[in-house]
Amino acid sequence: MPAPNLESAAPSDILRWTFDAFGDRVALSTAFGPSGVALMHLASRVRPGVRVFFVDTGLHFEETLETAERVRQRLPIDLQIVRPELSVERQTELYGDLPVIDPDRCCGMRKVEPTRRVLAGLDAWVTGLRRDQGPSRASTPVLDVREVEGRTLYKVSPLVRWSRRDVWRHVFAHELPYNPLHDAGYPSIGCAPCTAPAGQGDDERAGRWAGRAKTECGLHTRL
Ligand code: SF4
Repeated sequence: MPAPNLESAAPSDILRWTFDAFGDRVALSTAFGPSGVALMHLASRVRPGVRVFFVDTGLHFEETLETAERVRQRLPIDLQIVRPELSVERQTELYGDLPVIDPDRCCGMRKVEPTRRVLAGLDAWVTGLRRDQGPSRASTPVLDVREVEGRTLYKVSPLVRWSRRDVWRHVFAHELPYNPLHDAGYPSIGCAPCTAPAGQGDDERAGRWAGRAKTECGLHTRL
């Protein structure tokens, strides 16, 4: 399929094109951060019942799981919860405390592999990535056509041009649920062992894997 130029299109128009082009073989991924919540709101207005998947690593904050439930009750989404093959306990038994010893391997097993499983049944993957989230995301395109395991996958990021302020404005304007940890100094929230509060003026993802060179779990660099 020829890829249209969506770079300057509004998020709702990007979503409409995506749903028209890929029918049921499209889903959004989210970890219930504010970008994801805003995106689910926009997407569920274009397509009520939109498919959404969340990778429950078993290591999320309780507040994140509660936010997921509040969003599910509030928005017309079809939420699929995906889990890694190994429980946290079994992984620790076999390999030790991976979030400390080898976080790349831990993310590979607990985030990337479950996501890869879902993507195997999709033609298009919609994400809430934004360019202002940090240097590793600064050149994210709206539409990225990739080869994943011999298949073409269209990765669509309708909010790339939105700022953090735009996202929060949307969340507040529509009174959408959000993770209360954001009010406690956590600008970006992942798994509990790898997430810390960030200082005023820090990069949005500064609290993720704080003190390490790692800045991404691998979902958006390996898939
Ligand atoms: S963010 Fe931390 S705990 Fe979560 S999968 Fe990655 S290394 Fe493991």
